[in-house]
Amino acid sequence: MGIESTAHTLSIGFVDEAGKLYSSESALFKPEEGGIHPREAADHHSVVAPNLVSSLMNREDFSQDDIVAVSFSQGPGLGPCLRIGASVARSLSSFWKAPLIGVNHCVAHIEVGRNQTGCDDPVLLYASGGNTQVIARSGDRYRVIGETLDIGIGNMLDKFARNHGIAFPGGPAIEKLSQKWAGNISADESELLTLPYGVHGTDLAFSGLLTSAIFHSKKLPLEQVCYSLQEHAFSSCIEVAERAMAHTGKSELLLGGGVACNGRLREMSAIMCEERGGQSFWPEKQYCIDNGTMIAELGRKELQSGRITELDESAIDPSMRTDSSTIAWT
Ligand code: AMP
Ligand code: MG
Repeated sequence: MGIESTAHTLSIGFVDEAGKLYSSESALFKPEEGGIHPREAADHHSVVAPNLVSSLMNREDFSQDDIVAVSFSQGPGLGPCLRIGASVARSLSSFWKAPLIGVNHCVAHIEVGRNQTGCDDPVLLYASGGNTQVIARSGDRYRVIGETLDIGIGNMLDKFARNHGIAFPGGPAIEKLSQKWAGNISADESELLTLPYGVHGTDLAFSGLLTSAIFHSKKLPLEQVCYSLQEHAFSSCIEVAERAMAHTGKSELLLGGGVACNGRLREMSAIMCEERGGQSFWPEKQYCIDNGTMIAELGRKELQSGRITELDESAIDPSMRTDSSTIAWT
């Protein structure tokens, strides 16, 4: 069993010992207004947790004897939210006498993608709400080659959307508005606004793009601004991903994180990989967004490598880094 609670979503899923994935049961915290308040999200998670566990167990007709181990996101994420997931995991683990495994959320996005798509040694473009990183394996670590210097790409999209009264999550709504504009412009490149383009070597930045897009949207059609916002934000990610592929010599690009649900980002990654003779991959949408199944999948790999987490080492780590975890499997 895997328990995910790094931010807005509490999600619980399973994987079996051979690596078969079972869809998660998830509950998303939606604030009435504004962004996510960590303590309000944590309260939400603690209220929905018991029902999520029992509905998942009932759905699959599993009993406690079927549970080999309980894994949970130990970090990175919002402290109050992580604490709820960790408490639920500790309780179930001791009640069911199943080993406890704390895992690195970012690494889980990679491993569920590898499981789902069959790619072997990819560069991961991890584009989610709070995180935007380009990651590749070197020796026994997944190394961060580049990352956002300010806000996550998903947070940027959500903030732009919120500025226009569009509720969280804003990314899907921006995608729809962009598609409307792209359908209208045919080949006229002049319709693409020039916005700040935040590539700094292999790092990224999105806050200048956000400010500029909000400014333009006061005068120009929202669809045109959404389209231009997506083109700039996604191009910058794909540029850094390509640079990472060139430097590491790797030929596979894997997308992960909620923003990897976006059709235009997927299209750009496919074009870039094709142009350089590589291959692009993305998991099903349910495994792009935060989900318990990916936490279970990473727990499975840790367990099969002989690693479990003792109770006195199970404290959460909100600022855990992708490369702070050693990777013991191939
Ligand atoms: P995560 O933090 O990985 O759960 O992903 C949540 C983020 O993904 C939010 O910022 C959403 O706005 C974003 N997102 C979800 N679907 C899409 C989409 N189709 N296009 C762009 N962003 C999306
Ligand atoms: Mg995530």
